[in-house]
Amino acid sequence: MSLPESGRDRERVLADLESRADSDADWRNGRTWNLVYHAGEAVESLRNDAYELFASENALNPGAFPSLGQCEVDIVEMTTDLLSGSDDVVGNVTSGGTESILLAVYTAREHARRERGITESELVVPETAHPAWSKAGHYFGVDVIRTPVREDRRADVDAVEAAVTDRTAMVVGSAPAYPHGVVDPIADLGRIAAANDMLCHVDACLGGFILPFLRDLGHDFPAFDFSVPGVTSMSADPHKYGYAPKGSSVLLWRTPDIRLHQYFGFQDWHGGVYVAPNMQGTRPGGPIAGTWAVMQYLGRDGYADLTATVMDTAETLRDRIEAIDGLSIVANPDATVFAIESTDPTLDVWAVHERLTADGWVLERQQQPPSIHLSVMPTHEPVVEEFCADLEAAAEDARSESGDSARAPMYGLSADLDSDEEIERAAERLLDSVFR
Ligand SMILES: *Cc1c(COP(=O)(O)O)cnc(C)c1O
Repeated sequence: MSLPESGRDRERVLADLESRADSDADWRNGRTWNLVYHAGEAVESLRNDAYELFASENALNPGAFPSLGQCEVDIVEMTTDLLSGSDDVVGNVTSGGTESILLAVYTAREHARRERGITESELVVPETAHPAWSKAGHYFGVDVIRTPVREDRRADVDAVEAAVTDRTAMVVGSAPAYPHGVVDPIADLGRIAAANDMLCHVDACLGGFILPFLRDLGHDFPAFDFSVPGVTSMSADPHKYGYAPKGSSVLLWRTPDIRLHQYFGFQDWHGGVYVAPNMQGTRPGGPIAGTWAVMQYLGRDGYADLTATVMDTAETLRDRIEAIDGLSIVANPDATVFAIESTDPTLDVWAVHERLTADGWVLERQQQPPSIHLSVMPTHEPVVEEFCADLEAAAEDARSESGDSARAPMYGLSADLDSDEEIERAAERLLDSVFR
């Protein structure tokens, strides 16, 4: 396509976009178990209105848009309060979990270099932690040591301790980790970090807006937030279980002297002195305004109600799935995300996945163990029966069939190539055909 010679009608342009969305995943009606965290029409419409109000504004300069600066401060304070932080905690809103993680690793590297004289730093990260940790290490030249997890899929504390060296800048735990929904033993990780004068990050991108409310509802899991000594930073994403518009994560530091290393400044530009707290230049106002609005609109009781609904739905699903012959839930999830595996050698869980996909469900495959991932959301409450019926039928029909195996979760790429570089080349070839 080239730019139209003359501009087109507003109605036609919008109609085109709407029809393009026809073949997209259906997330409003509970068919989709990942990617979009939807809390229903009322939240969606408020979020969109707030986004629209600030869709053109630029948070790059809070001097010009103090409104957005104040919203950012408020979001940071509300999130700090949820995660048991003190008045010393400082933070920023970023464009997403990945940016928060990239910044955390960059800041840890700079902290290690400037405060501890470490020129080649390392990061110790459990295997279940998000790939963004490895991406950050790759981008910033920090070695990422991935440590094994225990049978229950939580970080193996002994393995973490053994992996720590005098070059370790930061240890990481997840609350919870995405693949199996379990919270790492954060108290032990904090203890190891404190004893070695290192930083400790809790990746609560997924759980930051659900675990505090589960705790209020009486659910039990290991302490995971700033109440844990030794935890020096956390990330929590409003755009996941905070039900905010996409492009919204919060990165928090226990004290300002660590966050100092996150800032970038450059004074020799012809255009003048340039400073930035995070990785973006131009910063869209929509996600910040939308996040502020959703947090104010829902409040503690709104999030608590949504969390109760989602957790009830997750527990019903887990019971129903465990009752299906040959299927089981991986480990013992602490929150509202989990994975379904096969316990029967004649039942290939990826063949089950293929049948569910044919039934119109959108679900991710995971590889260790081979499993189907579910992030439970408020929209799933009405479809529990239908989903379980389809899952039962799929398990019945798929027995002795084999699914197309050796496929990684993303883009259906094969996970049996020799190196990550080969995966990069394969992704490039594949995406070339998608994007061109
Ligand atoms: C989703 C997720 C991330 C990455 O967040 P993005 O917003 O997708 O960049 C990081 N960590 C965990 C535990 C997550 O679930």
